[in-house]
Amino acid sequence: MKDVRVRFAPSPTGYLHIGGLRTAVYNYLYARQHDGKFLLRIEDTDRTRFVEGAIENLIRSLNWSGIEIDEGVVLRDGEVAQVGDKGPYIQSERLEIYRKYVDQLIESGHAYHCFCSKERLDALREEQKIKGQVPRYDGLCRSISPEEAQKRIDAGEEYVIRLKLPHDRDISFEDEARGTITINTNEMDDQVLMKSDGFPTYHLAVVVDDHLMDITHVIRGEEWLPSTPKHVYLYEAFGWEPPTYIHLPGVLNKDHKKLSKRQGDVSVEDFRGHGYLPEGLVNYLALVGWSPEDNQEIFSMDELIEAFDTSRIARTGGVFDVKKLDWVNSHYMKELSREELLEMALPYLAEAGLLTEEEAKKDPERYLILMDTIQEGLDRLEQVPEACDFLYGEYKVEEEAALEQLKSESAPAVVDALKEILEGMDEITFEDAQGLMKKVQKASGVKGKNLYMPARAAMTGNVHGPELSNIIYLLGKDEILDRLEKAKAYM
Ligand code: GLU
Repeated sequence: MKDVRVRFAPSPTGYLHIGGLRTAVYNYLYARQHDGKFLLRIEDTDRTRFVEGAIENLIRSLNWSGIEIDEGVVLRDGEVAQVGDKGPYIQSERLEIYRKYVDQLIESGHAYHCFCSKERLDALREEQKIKGQVPRYDGLCRSISPEEAQKRIDAGEEYVIRLKLPHDRDISFEDEARGTITINTNEMDDQVLMKSDGFPTYHLAVVVDDHLMDITHVIRGEEWLPSTPKHVYLYEAFGWEPPTYIHLPGVLNKDHKKLSKRQGDVSVEDFRGHGYLPEGLVNYLALVGWSPEDNQEIFSMDELIEAFDTSRIARTGGVFDVKKLDWVNSHYMKELSREELLEMALPYLAEAGLLTEEEAKKDPERYLILMDTIQEGLDRLEQVPEACDFLYGEYKVEEEAALEQLKSESAPAVVDALKEILEGMDEITFEDAQGLMKKVQKASGVKGKNLYMPARAAMTGNVHGPELSNIIYLLGKDEILDRLEKAKAYM
């Protein structure tokens, strides 16, 4: 058995689509499960789509997600670098290689020069459309002899190089997730392999590279499934062994359409910005299009590596459900230490203008307690500022239930006792805060719900929220006294 080698081969469009991340994740899981290698190859032969900084962005997103690149394009000290002995791994640096192999195909009669103009091809397509036919090249240049072709090239005519498919032949291949797939060449087009600018098309480059880079398994999106017979034929034409194919179902939106940028967030960066944790995003994405044998839903990367099974990849698209993602992510939010949570939350608090890093450094314990206080209810980091509203928000009583509490029979006694006790204290330490409500109970003679609900309403304006003793500590003496005065206005 050959050593497993898989590749993720994105085009550098500027961002990593979450569907792309899922493809990368499945490749990575497969590589790790089989002690194989995970390669990153950059497919940038479509120069019209070139975006500055796109490769760096892509790799940063992969790294953030916990995917380690064994070979190919990597970042070293923030700079794009390449590792491995089968490079270059950036297609635009491999043009000579493609030229050599396409010449080989012409030589062996598997490819030909095509001189058809854009106008002719457009007209042909129009005509076929009107006749209700599938637009396809009609093979006009197939019969041009190599000598004549050379003459026309020498005369400066523009040309592309096309694959010369045999007529009426079944091309079959095994897809590990979908079984045997067979297509007749009469249904296929004489694919352009090399464009007039000397750049290969995706189809030529992908076959040449996968072969030269010893790729054993091609795991990619199902949008490439219709192209696979062409690739399989190219392997035959070169006399090479094709890899094993595994095509993945799409990642769909709620309307079962492809997730697209127009409808909102699709890039890994977007989700990172919303404060999803890499563990949560990867865990959830792995479940869109694959399911384990049991109903387990929470998986660390190591557990995914263990459980992943290509025969359990779905055949139909999986819906990307943000609610489910939130649920999975909340699991990882709860697993963070309060130190980790504070570090990750600070950019969001700073952005909201609530807390700067310097301020947090002055009294770390206080902010760690704040993290303890809010952690339970968080699905993602973006929610941190709102979760801190009890502390930073303006005091107001809007909830009907809170108003009722302030107007309840026990409220005046509770508020008076609170006020008196606080006035007799210096600043409230964390320990003081733990015992404070007991003291209020003693002084007011009120206990249970009748004590806690009005007290909470008076201090926060709400009847629900995080642990009251933490709130007391975090608000501090002066702020609570201030709020008690304001609460009185509602009583
Ligand atoms: N460059 C292609 C893409 O952007 C790669 C397809 C493949 O994996 O063969 O999806």
